[in-house]
Amino acid sequence: MAGLELSDIRKQYADISVIHGVDLSIPDGAFTVFVGPSGCGKSTLLRMVAGLEEISSGTMTIGGRVVNEVEPAERGVAMVFQTYALYPHMTVAENMGFGLRMTGTAKSEIKTRVDAAASILKLEPYLQRKPKALSGGQRQRVAIGRAIVRNPEVFLFDEPLSNLDAELRVAMRVEIARLHQELGTTMIYVTHDQVEAMTLADQIVVLRDGKIEQTGAPLTLYDDPDNVFVAGFIGSPRMNFIKGKVESSDGPTRISLSEHDELLERPLEARPSPGTDVLVGLRPEHFAKGGEGSLSLRVDVVEHLGGASYIYAEPSSGAQTSATDLPPVVVEARTARNVREGETFTAHYDPLDALVFDVASGLRLR
Ligand code: ADP
Ligand code: MG
Repeated sequence: MAGLELSDIRKQYADISVIHGVDLSIPDGAFTVFVGPSGCGKSTLLRMVAGLEEISSGTMTIGGRVVNEVEPAERGVAMVFQTYALYPHMTVAENMGFGLRMTGTAKSEIKTRVDAAASILKLEPYLQRKPKALSGGQRQRVAIGRAIVRNPEVFLFDEPLSNLDAELRVAMRVEIARLHQELGTTMIYVTHDQVEAMTLADQIVVLRDGKIEQTGAPLTLYDDPDNVFVAGFIGSPRMNFIKGKVESSDGPTRISLSEHDELLERPLEARPSPGTDVLVGLRPEHFAKGGEGSLSLRVDVVEHLGGASYIYAEPSSGAQTSATDLPPVVVEARTARNVREGETFTAHYDPLDALVFDVASGLRLR
């Protein structure tokens, strides 16, 4: 097992800079997820950990050893890719043991390790099958088995579930969580899917445009985002953002929500100056709790999920949020079976649940 330290890691392809100075501590034994939109540099960063991409500058240590110049095979890492790339003419057992055979491991040792991995992954019944006789999920398990037999100090996963259908993805997600519990090995997992990040991670690293936006435990990022990007990226349905302007900050901060013809009043240590443009962030479920704050809304569409309903709404003042590049407000309601399109209603929230972001910088005003 090993922890990792990334210090001012940068990646440059010719004159294009894609990773702009990443500082990150990955604790020994933790499950860390790199999440962010497509193209933000997740794979590049992971491949630099694996040694498949050269590090342009900065220092990377694995288990206390600087690995910048260390060959991939010598780093104690094993990687699982999105495409399983199994050898079609080899059995499951041969596929899993292939890497060990290449490094000259004794046959009996290979068998022991393949059997152990097959037992963890429940692949015992399939060891003599060829990949074409396996389902997608079983193939991905073989690819994970190939990593396990190498007994790595760090597992690296690059979107390993993206090729699977939705149901299988959820099942495999649980398998991977169980695998981490069972092995206790450091794991770094790349995904663009914030639900995978939330459910798997001890620590989430949110990346955008080659930079870390925020690092933290899943619920810390959910409850206490540092900026509007993280607030909007983590959570489904997304956090609602409502345009506001600071009226005054002596005493509690007063923010006018002009599209809704409402005023929000809540204490903020930041005391933003009057006239500051802000976005007020409220999650759909904040409305289900109710409170002193209110928004006057008109129902656009209702989705009934059974246990809860999501009401997509516009300000009842007539202002069109869609005309101002903000999506409709989504309100979670526990009892809204009779809500009809076109109806107006008042959604209540606790002002202390409202997060405030500075429009100019995108940063949270606490
Ligand atoms: P992600 O995995 O988050 O989708 P990547 O790490 O694959 O993103 O890519 C990050 C950025 O680096 C992208 O803009 C991509 O176009 C660029 N990139 C990746 N590989 C190369 C390369 N070999 N040469 C030039 N640019 C690259
Ligand atoms: Mg990628």
